[in-house]
Amino acid sequence: MKKSISTFLKHPTKDSSNRSANPPVTRASTILFDTMQELILHEKKIKANKKVSYYSYGRYGSSTTIELENMIKKLEEAYHVFLTGTGFGGVALAIMSLCRPGDEILVSDNVYGPTKEISEELVKEFNISTKFYNPDKFEDLQNKVTKQTKMIIVENPGSNTFEFQDLSKIVKLAKRKNILTFLDNTWGTPLYLKPLKIGFDLSFCSATKYFSGHSDAMGGSLAVNKKVFKKVMFFYKLSGYRMSADEAYLIIRGLRTLDVRLKKHYENAKIVINFLKRQKKIKEILYPYKPTSKSYKLWKKYYSGANGLFSIVVKSKKKSSVVKFVNSLELFGIGYSWGGFESLVLLQELRANTKYTKTRRYFRFAKDEHIVRLHIGLEDPKDLIQDLKQSLRHIK
Ligand SMILES: *Cc1c(COP(=O)(O)O)cnc(C)c1O
Repeated sequence: MKKSISTFLKHPTKDSSNRSANPPVTRASTILFDTMQELILHEKKIKANKKVSYYSYGRYGSSTTIELENMIKKLEEAYHVFLTGTGFGGVALAIMSLCRPGDEILVSDNVYGPTKEISEELVKEFNISTKFYNPDKFEDLQNKVTKQTKMIIVENPGSNTFEFQDLSKIVKLAKRKNILTFLDNTWGTPLYLKPLKIGFDLSFCSATKYFSGHSDAMGGSLAVNKKVFKKVMFFYKLSGYRMSADEAYLIIRGLRTLDVRLKKHYENAKIVINFLKRQKKIKEILYPYKPTSKSYKLWKKYYSGANGLFSIVVKSKKKSSVVKFVNSLELFGIGYSWGGFESLVLLQELRANTKYTKTRRYFRFAKDEHIVRLHIGLEDPKDLIQDLKQSLRHIK
C-alpha cells in the first residue's frame, strides 16, 4: 500500500524481538558476529550503502539510529542520511568532509551564527577561503563564483531576518559550474521542503528543533545524494561524529507528531501575526504572510507549509524599553533554540555596530530597529496574544 508521509511517521517498522510498538533503545559499542566472514561481509554491505539493520561497530550507530536514519531518508528522499550528536555537527560534517585547502566557499550572509563562524574563522586555518553573498541579490552570488568555488552554503529562510531565496536558480548556477550545494532546511524541515529533490547535494536539518519538538534532545541530520556520499562517509567514520541511541529514540518519538505539531505551530503563528500586524510599534513582521511580498512568493514557490518561528522589527530609540518588553513576557521563555512545544523570545543584537552586525555585510535595518525573534508554541494563542499585549505597552 502506498502510504502518505503522515501515516508513515506513525507506522515505522515494528520491533520483532519484543513486539513493542516502538524500536528498542539499543546501546552498543560491540556488535557480535558468528564468524569473521560474516563480519567482513557486513562491512562490505555498509560500504556499499546496502540496507542494514545494524552497523559493525557502535561508533557508526546502532539499530535505533538506523531506524531514525531510515525515517529521515524517506522524508528527505535521500540516498543516505548521516546523524550527528548535535545539529551543528551536521554543518561541520558537510564542510569538513568536502572542502579542501585552496577551495573557496560561498556562504549566504544570513546564515546561523555558528555556520558563519566556522566558514569565516575556522576554515581559514585550513587554507579554505570564504565569500559571503547578499541573500536578497542573486546577481551578487553569481558574480562571486570563481573557479575555486567548491560549495555554496544556503540557509532558507535565513536565521533571524528570514530572507527567502530562489532555490532552483542557485542549484542551476551551481550545476553549470560544477559546484556543490548545501541547504540548511531546519525551518522548513523535509516535511515542507525536500532540498535534494530541488537538486541540492546536501540537505541539513537540526533535529534539535522541530524533529525532536520537546526541547530535550539534540541532534543533526545531513541527507546526501549519491554524488557526495562516499566522501562524507569517509569523514563521518573517522571524525567520530555520532548520535547516541537515546537521543535517536527521542527524535524518533518526536517525528511521530511532526506533521501535527507543525500544522498547529503554523495555525497559532498566523493568529498571533494577525494581532501583531495591527500594532504600531511593530514596523515589520519577518514571516511569509503577505501574499504580495517577495518572501511570500518565494515561500509559496517551494514550501508546502510554514511554522511558528519569525522575527518582528520593533522601532524604538530606547533599547531599554524593548528589553523591558522582552523581559515582561510571561509565556515566552528567554533562551536559545526553538522548535519545541513552548513559546520563546530572543532579542537579536542586530543593530549597527554590535558584534553580530559586524559580521553581516548586507543588513537593511536601521540603528533604532530592534529584531525580536519569536517562536510561537503550542499554547492557546489567545493567551499568547494577551501576554504580548500587556508587554508591548513597555515599548517607548
Ligand atoms: C539550531 C540551528 C542549528 C544548529 O543546531 P544545534 O542542534 O543547536 O546544534 C543550525 N542551523 C539552524 C538554522 C538552527 O536553527
